[in-house]
Amino acid sequence: MMFLMRLTAAGNLVQFDLAEPAQQLGVGPSRALFGMSLDELNTIALDLGEPAYRGQQIFDALYRQRADSLDAITTLPLSFRAALEAAGYSIAAPRIAQSFQSKDGTERYLVELADGRTVETVWMPEGDGTEEWGEDEEQSASKPYRRATICVSSQVGCAVRCQFCFTARMGLERHLTAGEIAGQVTAVLNRHDVEIGSARGQGNPDRINLVFMGMGEPFHNYDNFMDAFRLLVDGVGIPASRMTVSTSGIVPGIEAFAREPLRPRLAISLNAPNDDIRERIMPITRKWPIAELVKALKAVSLSPRERLTFEYVLLAKVNDQMQHAEELVSLIKGSGLRAKVNLIVWNPGPELDFAMPSPDTVAAFQAALRAAEIPAYIRRPRGLDIFAACGQLKRTVESSD
Ligand code: SF4
Repeated sequence: MMFLMRLTAAGNLVQFDLAEPAQQLGVGPSRALFGMSLDELNTIALDLGEPAYRGQQIFDALYRQRADSLDAITTLPLSFRAALEAAGYSIAAPRIAQSFQSKDGTERYLVELADGRTVETVWMPEGDGTEEWGEDEEQSASKPYRRATICVSSQVGCAVRCQFCFTARMGLERHLTAGEIAGQVTAVLNRHDVEIGSARGQGNPDRINLVFMGMGEPFHNYDNFMDAFRLLVDGVGIPASRMTVSTSGIVPGIEAFAREPLRPRLAISLNAPNDDIRERIMPITRKWPIAELVKALKAVSLSPRERLTFEYVLLAKVNDQMQHAEELVSLIKGSGLRAKVNLIVWNPGPELDFAMPSPDTVAAFQAALRAAEIPAYIRRPRGLDIFAACGQLKRTVESSD
């Protein structure tokens, strides 16, 4: 069990169990409909004297039609909408409070939560730079639909102390609820008027990939993350195969994930070919060394076309040398895992004492993996000028120009 001590605004020292669901950390309005499951909505309908199918109508309105007020749920009788309002219910989905546009089309948002805190969400048109999330990216450019990736946060801050990550400097403020995780996605879909399936019109549906790689460690907030995932699949209508969750290697989380009947794809933020280097840049390795990580990953059964993704942030002179590439090849080949590697060129951030690798080094590292027949992709940095790139999320309110 993991605990975190935090000093509250009132100056009290509070102990959080990181495995506890967010509701127990005292967040979120009690009458927010957004984030509720179908069962919860059915119960509300019955409690207010309506047939249970009204719950399904609210569910569809919240997630499929993405209604932003009770008044907009025109499938419900006026009297029921009034009863919901009188009982204190409102949609109360997270909203975009601020946005920052990059020259490359990327947009970064500060999404405001009910308690006034904010998290970061990023919209990346035409993918996230690796061109290989999801199943059918090869169809992308010439099709009449838009394709984009949304990077979603799972916590306010993060308790994992990855040394190369800007978000780590915040520490963990709190977990997000399922509604706050799924609500980042609907807020961004609404902003861009995205069509998912045919729910919102007659046009061609857009192709949206989700990556849970924003602020936070999703597997430290496992239950809320998985609840959000289910809302996004069953409610919003985004296929599970278009979602990827990234973990720093929380072994109990991976074990639980392996038992899920429906799950997103899995990425592991590996970043080192051995425990010595990994411990230096990811102290969590002391708790779960690479061998334990690999053992847990072997229990995740993959569909025929699926691969695990190892993310590898290249840090000059730390983990980017040819011997590291060779060691990484041995590690992946020796593990027997069907995996690909996303190479991420480290993005410089204030207060972080690392250097960016040279383009030649990055190319040589990728070539070494490919020569060993390990699929390896280089993730183009996105939204660098607005602090939207990987490891840069810390609710910065400026842009670089
Ligand atoms: S890289 Fe991810 S897990 Fe590590 S500190 Fe940053 S947000 Fe947390």
